[in-house]
Amino acid sequence: MSPESRRAGLRASMQAAELDAVLVTDLLNVRYLTGFTGSNAALLVGVTDDDSAFCTDGRYDTQSARQVPDLRRLIDRPCDVALVTEAAAAGVGVVGFESHRVTVDGLAALREAAPAVEFRRAPGLVEKLRVVKDDAEVDALRRACAAADAALAELIESGGLRPGRTELEVARELEERMRDHGAAGPSFETIVAAGANSAVPHHRPTRAVLEAGDFVKMDFGALVDGYHSDMTRTVVLGAPADWQREVYDLVAVAQAAGRAALAPGADVRDVDAAARDVIDGAGHGEHFVHGLGHGVGLQIHEAPALSRLGAGKLTAGMAVTVEPGVYFAGRGGVRIEDTLVVRDTGPELLTMTTKDLVVVQT
Ligand code: ZN
Ligand code: ZN
Repeated sequence: MSPESRRAGLRASMQAAELDAVLVTDLLNVRYLTGFTGSNAALLVGVTDDDSAFCTDGRYDTQSARQVPDLRRLIDRPCDVALVTEAAAAGVGVVGFESHRVTVDGLAALREAAPAVEFRRAPGLVEKLRVVKDDAEVDALRRACAAADAALAELIESGGLRPGRTELEVARELEERMRDHGAAGPSFETIVAAGANSAVPHHRPTRAVLEAGDFVKMDFGALVDGYHSDMTRTVVLGAPADWQREVYDLVAVAQAAGRAALAPGADVRDVDAAARDVIDGAGHGEHFVHGLGHGVGLQIHEAPALSRLGAGKLTAGMAVTVEPGVYFAGRGGVRIEDTLVVRDTGPELLTMTTKDLVVVQT
């Protein structure tokens, strides 16, 4: 979908909210609606594209001419003030603003620049559009997931997971290999957690050394064209102990149940429950200490939240993770995470790495 049709989508909610224009200051939302990737910009979306304008500063004159050829461009600073000043001069009456982003001081500056304009809170209008991914977005997510899949496959094939290496070395190698496969970088700080550290859900890699018999939990992703992939795999170095196989199988069954629950119309709390009930039923509910998953896209964590605290229903085209985990403090833990797209015909899996327990020969 083109930025132009995304702006048309925003106009539908703008008109429903009885706004004459929307001032978009969240940089990711500006990117979504224009394709601009620089670090300073704002956008005023009016009734038509002719009533709309994009603003950035002089550093991005050339770049924005290329990336935003279809909107009038202002080169000015601060962008939000420049845009509303112009809108006020054109007689625009009611401007919605991203009240979840704009500071109190920022709003005061807007009011001072355009005293005749009525500024109305309009939180989350663009985010509501962003939860459903179009084909171009899913394509970027697919490539981001493929880079992560390739990096992990190469890491394992080349013997990169072996006793004596540190968590930090493994994390760096995963990130380097994702770059080799087209990633601009990791989509978040790579988690590599060995042995007892695997029981810490968001462990940061250290100089801890991998040892035979360890679980090694790797949670990582690639950033491609602004889109974030997210995958966790837990492998075992050498022959697994019985308890390791049991906990792995439990998490794998719960994860499959969570994936199977991804359907348009499903309540996000029911999706969480589908996986959580499996873990509860095995008596390990207290060891599953986080939500089941989250949306991914231009942000690594975005709506919808698949958790007991979430709200709302799934829609076809949403990109989400499913990532149950069971953690035994001091011993080790397992998380298995995929990135998927909700589809009418059943979820589309984007992270292709096997979910069978990988036993790395040592
Ligand atoms: Zn993750
Ligand atoms: Zn995640």
